Amino acid sequence: MLNFSFQNTTKIHFGEGQISAITKAIPQDANVLVIYGGGSIKSNGVYQQVTTALADHNWFEFSGIEPNPNYDTLMKSLEIIKEQKIDFLLAVGGGSVVDGVKFIAAAAKFEGQDPWDIVAKHAPIADALPIGAVLTLPATGSESNIGSVITRDGNKLSFGHPLVRPQFAVLDPAVTLSLSDRQISNGVVDAFVHIMEQYLTYDVNGKVQDRFSEGLLQTLVEEGPKALVAETNQDLDVRANIMWSATMALNGLIGAGVPQDWATHMIGHELTASHGIDHARTLSIVLPAIMKVRRTQKHTKLVQFAERVWGITNGTDEQKIDQAIAATEDFFTQMQVPVRLSQVDIEAPFIDTLVNALEKHGMTTLGEHGDIDLTESRKILTAAL
Ligand code: NAP
Ligand code: FE
Repeated sequence: MLNFSFQNTTKIHFGEGQISAITKAIPQDANVLVIYGGGSIKSNGVYQQVTTALADHNWFEFSGIEPNPNYDTLMKSLEIIKEQKIDFLLAVGGGSVVDGVKFIAAAAKFEGQDPWDIVAKHAPIADALPIGAVLTLPATGSESNIGSVITRDGNKLSFGHPLVRPQFAVLDPAVTLSLSDRQISNGVVDAFVHIMEQYLTYDVNGKVQDRFSEGLLQTLVEEGPKALVAETNQDLDVRANIMWSATMALNGLIGAGVPQDWATHMIGHELTASHGIDHARTLSIVLPAIMKVRRTQKHTKLVQFAERVWGITNGTDEQKIDQAIAATEDFFTQMQVPVRLSQVDIEAPFIDTLVNALEKHGMTTLGEHGDIDLTESRKILTAAL
């Protein structure tokens, strides 16, 4: 196992009805800005629950944060933050809203010239407004991690800082019942790939992390499809297990003391930036291709993945790996997400543009070994056709 320091300070309020916990979780004397997206929270009762819980607080609201949160939209919130002396931000929504609020929290206190530098140049963050989150879409883990992904003019880039980790997060599985099949699929697949980015690298004898990861992967494989079929799609235990898996997938625990990859995400971001493809649907296309192109470097963990996650015990190592890749693609297909670029109408000639975008964004040393250069990314994209 590698050396690590681990701390996760986000207090989780988990379960049905837990939105009421925000009454006590936010300081009574705070000036709160409730920040949300396109309005799903108004039709599924979440807004009502939040406003009831904040009845005795002084609060304001800012809405319109879009999926893949946009810099220009986020910057508009700074006006009301200044005017109303906001000193607490409450994100109510999915990963896009939580990520967007993280940027707002840092931008509101930024002392440099241009807040975009926080994302583009990883400018130092010395202070940030405190954040709480009411999560409505289990997927990103953003509700209890330090990361955030922001889009501006076709550039989708990430930043991270401990000061933007939410102080608390409410995870009520009941609020996920209003998600469309597409969004629940996206969430399950995003969480699955988060685990794979921290698990499918090289062996450092991190047995605890490996077994946590394998348990989470198996839970998503078992429960994900249940959320899509009529007999079980209203089952709150299914939703609870998906929601908690997604948080555990990216709260720092399974990634502590092990190598991490993240090439699937970095290549996927270019597909979202150029073609507007849903985040998870870029990952389901890129991950199988990475498993194929990187099968030598990932050999040991691919065999372990085959045996322990999918129960594949027959055949040679190479046959086990083939079966594990096929099983992963079958799972993605069962979750109704694409596994090839052709399924989202991207053809071979466009690979040049994607490789150029990776170069522009400095994505030239990806993967757990830092050896996925542009040539290797081209191979991966070609394998994904
Ligand atoms: P999202 O973009 O936050 O939301 C997708 C859609 O789902 C929105 O249209 C939203 O509508 C709707 N929605 C959310 N909750 C709903 C509910 N309970 N019922 C009905 N509709 C609901 O999706 P996401 O997958 O959570 O976030 C994706 C973003 O996170 C991407 O930008 C991705 O790159 C990023 N990401 C971040 C991390 C991280 O660690 N920070 C990790 C991976 C990915 P409304 O707008 O109307 O609410
Ligand atoms: Fe993700």
